[in-house]
Amino acid sequence: MNSGGKGAEAEGLTQPPYPPQSAPYPGQVPPPMASGYPHPQPPNYAHPAPPPPYDANSNVIPPPQAAPTTYVQVVTRPQVGPDPASMVCPSCTKHVVTRLDYETSTKTHIAAGLLCLFICWPCFWIPYVIDSCKNANHYCPNCGAYIGTYRG
Ligand SMILES: [Zn+2]
Repeated sequence: MNSGGKGAEAEGLTQPPYPPQSAPYPGQVPPPMASGYPHPQPPNYAHPAPPPPYDANSNVIPPPQAAPTTYVQVVTRPQVGPDPASMVCPSCTKHVVTRLDYETSTKTHIAAGLLCLFICWPCFWIPYVIDSCKNANHYCPNCGAYIGTYRG
């Protein structure tokens, strides 16, 4: 006869890794904190980490970040055309008519290359003598300051 209905050693129960006969009564699940049961110990902090050195200066208010004083001087070149322009020189502040100095630009070389390839190659020098195919640099005739460039 089964006086104890519940099985002492139930097959489904997972027994702790010690002999079941150490339990005071069969069928009674021993407490998990039983003596001898290995349980993990918390790490022992023998020496706490010292506070960082800058912690002592935590009360020191950092100096306010000064705004970077960068003077971005936007030089606005006056709009100039392919012809001498009458304007006030930004350098000597005199009303002058600009002096033009043409220089060959990339467009000049492209025009020369197109002439050489498709039209007639002996005419490749034409863009180099046509001012409209060059950049027109405007200079002040009074002080010689560079005023602007017209992209031809
Ligand atoms: Zn000038």
